[in-house]
Amino acid sequence: MKRSLRFWILMLTTFTIVGIISSSLFSGYIVTKKSLIDVSLENNKVYSTKLAKMSDKVFKDMQENLESRKQDIIGNFEDETKLTAILDELLVNSKNFNSLSIIGSDGVAIATSPNIGIAGNKIDSEGVQEALRKKANIITSPYKAVTGRLLILVSTPLFDGKNNYIGMLNGTIYLQEDNFIRNILAEHFAEDGSYVYVVDKNGTLIYHPDGERIGESVKGNKVVQQLMQKKSGILEFKNLSSNHFLAGYTYIDTSNWGVVSQTPYASSLDKLSAIMWKIFLFSLPFAIIFYMVAYILSERLASPLKKLALYTMSSQNDRIDGNDLYIPVWYFEAKQLTETIISYRKRQEETVQEFKIRSLTDPLTGLKNRRYSEILFADLVSQNKLFSIIMLDIDHFKKVNDEFGHSAGDEVLKFIAEKMNSASRVGDVCTRLGGEEFAIILPNASLQQAFDVAEKLRQIVEEALPPTGKHITISSGVGEWRQNEETVNDLMHRVDMALYEAKASGRNKTIISTFK
Ligand code: GH3
Ligand code: MG
Ligand code: MG
Repeated sequence: MKRSLRFWILMLTTFTIVGIISSSLFSGYIVTKKSLIDVSLENNKVYSTKLAKMSDKVFKDMQENLESRKQDIIGNFEDETKLTAILDELLVNSKNFNSLSIIGSDGVAIATSPNIGIAGNKIDSEGVQEALRKKANIITSPYKAVTGRLLILVSTPLFDGKNNYIGMLNGTIYLQEDNFIRNILAEHFAEDGSYVYVVDKNGTLIYHPDGERIGESVKGNKVVQQLMQKKSGILEFKNLSSNHFLAGYTYIDTSNWGVVSQTPYASSLDKLSAIMWKIFLFSLPFAIIFYMVAYILSERLASPLKKLALYTMSSQNDRIDGNDLYIPVWYFEAKQLTETIISYRKRQEETVQEFKIRSLTDPLTGLKNRRYSEILFADLVSQNKLFSIIMLDIDHFKKVNDEFGHSAGDEVLKFIAEKMNSASRVGDVCTRLGGEEFAIILPNASLQQAFDVAEKLRQIVEEALPPTGKHITISSGVGEWRQNEETVNDLMHRVDMALYEAKASGRNKTIISTFK
């Protein structure tokens, strides 16, 4: 069986809802993912900038600290005890250095704080060599000191009154121990796997949460490459171990270092599935309401067509009347179809009705025909109703035809029909059985009442002047149906015999048939 229109409307609705939800989930997914990535990148950028500023400030403070005691140191350059005291005081005040030292132009340590027992020794570490060479303010790359520590050196040159280079004042930062960088950065340790690291201008790790890696070169890292070009910004990238990260990075001018704050790509999107669920759950009630409305609307849309279809199906069996059809039409197509079908059906019924009437009527006289009389008899018998009949025949009708022609004969037949109608009573049925033989069926009439009608008709015909202008007469037989005792055929036969008798005994007569 074919599916109903309503089924297809609901299918279409379901398809549309699923389509809309899927596409909104999909676009929601894309937009949310992008915004989560952007937020993560931006957070890292803000964070690395903040750390860079803090570091920058600390470096400036360090250099100012060193600068502020320079004159004092130059003035007491020969007094080792005094110099040590100055360094001790500076170490406590500045807080940012792990150690301080004064080294002569020959590279020999003059004073240190804390006292690490190197005074008087020639120091040929990388940092010191660089400072001796450059004779300028420098911040070195990480290097291993004679003590075995990984450190960086913040160094400022010392010149005497005659502008002769006499040595340097150094502050150190021990990279693998407590230091200011660690103090600033280690606080920020996020649960989502975000972390911060710092590289120097050569791409060497100065700070990393994994202390083991400090001092390692990470030049191959894309973010580090950006920083080495003195750039700041954001980047989505894969690191050397192919881990996907979202990073913000900021270059620090004073030290030429770079701070990187980065979040694993996957953890930036942790919230994505929860958000997608929320979007889905929020859209669900709308989808349900939408579906319910569609469900009701589909019923309303489909119902006129469904009713029409059922109507045409049952009207094929001729059971439903056009008047029974009530279809609430609220759209053009249903209205047009309904009107067309109803009017078509009405015309069809009228035609059928007309054919029915025609098939039961004698076209010449307008009387009922033999078929009608048969139906009527069956009806009367089935209801067990009392009735009588009159059978009549025109006397010498052949002569009318012969004398005046066939069509004049027809006019006489019509004349007889008219007289039959006027002589019979309300409820009597006048019929033309064929040729010039007629019958009147009289429901609920006694034999006497039927005889009276027949006699009345005989007299009317006898007295009236037919269209031919020549008087005619009729002969009749009359009988009453004996219910339960004879068939209608028996009765007809009997009455026909009476009519025959009327003819035989001289015509223009009415003879009663009695049941024997
Ligand atoms: P009777 O008194 O014995 O009845 O004599 P009748 O001449 O009427 O004889 P019968 O009834 O045997 O003849 C019927 C005639 O009626 C024969 C036929 O030509 C004529 N007839 C039958 N049907 C029609 C008809 O439709 N139109 C015309 N004009 N004549 C018809
Ligand atoms: Mg006859
Ligand atoms: Mg006749």
